[in-house]
Amino acid sequence: MAGTVLVTGAAGFLGSHLCDRFIHEGFKVIGMDNLLTGNIRNIEHLFGNDQFQFVKHDVSEYTHVSGDLDYILHFASPASPKDYLKLPIQTLKVGSLGTHKILGLARAKKARVLIASTSEVYGDPLVHPQQESYWGNVNPIGYRGVYDEAKRFMEAMTMAYHRYHGVETRIIRIFNTYGPRMRLDDGRALPAFVGQALRGEDLTVYGDGSQTRSFCFVSDLVEGIYRLLMSDVTEPVNIGNPSEITILQFAQEVLKHIDTKSKIIFEPLPEDDPKVRQPDITRARQLLGWEPKVEREEGLKKTIEYFRNQHELFH
Ligand code: UDP
Repeated sequence: MAGTVLVTGAAGFLGSHLCDRFIHEGFKVIGMDNLLTGNIRNIEHLFGNDQFQFVKHDVSEYTHVSGDLDYILHFASPASPKDYLKLPIQTLKVGSLGTHKILGLARAKKARVLIASTSEVYGDPLVHPQQESYWGNVNPIGYRGVYDEAKRFMEAMTMAYHRYHGVETRIIRIFNTYGPRMRLDDGRALPAFVGQALRGEDLTVYGDGSQTRSFCFVSDLVEGIYRLLMSDVTEPVNIGNPSEITILQFAQEVLKHIDTKSKIIFEPLPEDDPKVRQPDITRARQLLGWEPKVEREEGLKKTIEYFRNQHELFH
């Protein structure tokens, strides 16, 4: 066995893909999730695999794992704006108290820990594209603040454990990612647009759709996470796809892929919605030799195919 990995948020979109990858690499994987926003169906195929064990637990509470642990991937958190607006306290708790528990566990087990931070630490950015050296523009008391500040606290706590206790830490700043196993009802642009198009409903673009995002396909992200974990890089690293697009163009792209009578309609822009977002991935390129490989055309096709087969599409 290559070692033992604990994945928190294992039943989530990214967590479940990470479980798959580490099992494929020959690790024993302990998947932990309290199933608040995660879906057990994402890891159902791993039950019965003797490399995999599932533990239902909320990492905001004291977290025990018996035996040796080599790596921890801390991915537990509500992660879509709709989810964290609905679950503000849990979002703050898992990013702060949960991270504290995970860092304590890493210290006790002498495990290397990678924590999932986010492009949201840059807030509504005044620097474009965003480099890791940018400190961000976050409204601490806005509705998104519960996520953004929890993740900023998470980074601060992680660096403190690294500097004060010598824990081996890695920090990834994840930009918008998409792919199979996203939740159709998570409120994000891609599942919203694809779900609406497949049901023949109009696509709800918020604001005038001129805000930009840069979408990374999940397999590219997982490769970046794997490389960062196995590297010796302790400073934060952006992982995302620099191919930037407006949300209106993105909705139009979705419509090109799906035969539907849906049109685009405009709805009010949510509070503190970032106007632009694009990762500067120079650091990932130089230190990890990583860059994304999957074009949006190909990634969108695979993701739409996945959503077509979801039976809750019409519920
Ligand atoms: N958005 C939209 N229509 C929707 C859902 C989202 O226009 O039905 C917009 C949202 O306001 C934001 C962008 O799409 O500007 C990306 O939103 P998402 O929730 O996917 O992630 P974010 O990058 O804001 O965290």
